[in-house]
Amino acid sequence: MGPPGAGKGTQARVAADHFGIPAISTGDIFRTNVSNGTPLGKKAQEYMDQGEYVPDEVTNLMVRNRIDEPDAEPGFLLDGYPRTLAQVEELDGMIKYTGHALDAVVVLTVDADEIVAQLLRRAQVEGRADDTEEVIRRRQEVYGEQTEPLVEVYRTRGIVHEIDGMGAVEEVTKRIFDALDVVPQS
Ligand code: ADP
Repeated sequence: MGPPGAGKGTQARVAADHFGIPAISTGDIFRTNVSNGTPLGKKAQEYMDQGEYVPDEVTNLMVRNRIDEPDAEPGFLLDGYPRTLAQVEELDGMIKYTGHALDAVVVLTVDADEIVAQLLRRAQVEGRADDTEEVIRRRQEVYGEQTEPLVEVYRTRGIVHEIDGMGAVEEVTKRIFDALDVVPQS
């Protein structure tokens, strides 16, 4: 977990590699569907373009199908899911069914102002017309309203690892590995 721009995607891929499990990114799956013009992509795009979350029913079904794939059988790392309380509950149900357990939740903590400034610079340099300041700020707001409270939910379960997400990618990776390498795997 972590706000948009915290580097979740990059760290998720490296960590999943380290543990030999797939990184399942809901954002990536939505983007692939948008590029391919699938019905799911068409449904998701209007929300993504505005910085809003895709409705829970759509997202939950997609994750349910994905973790049923054979490569996720030994375990998996979720990037960008769950983001709402309804998704937390749904995930609990899903993994009860598949026989998995949630071993750890990594929360990347970052300086919000710094991240927004970086995202704005990137949007300008890459000429991403869709990433307007308004949408960038809205995404941060939605994260604060809907996703940040979930950290407390997982904290009461004793599985949260708050990691300083500022600094070089490799430094952050090292902090994540140091925390996760000592977590017993279910
Ligand atoms: P970021 O965390 O930088 O916003 P992501 O790539 O994780 O980027 O997600 C991109 C977009 O996809 C989100 O802004 C949201 O619209 C949608 N999305 C991704 N994951 C979820 C989720 N779990 N629930 C609802 N919408 C999601």
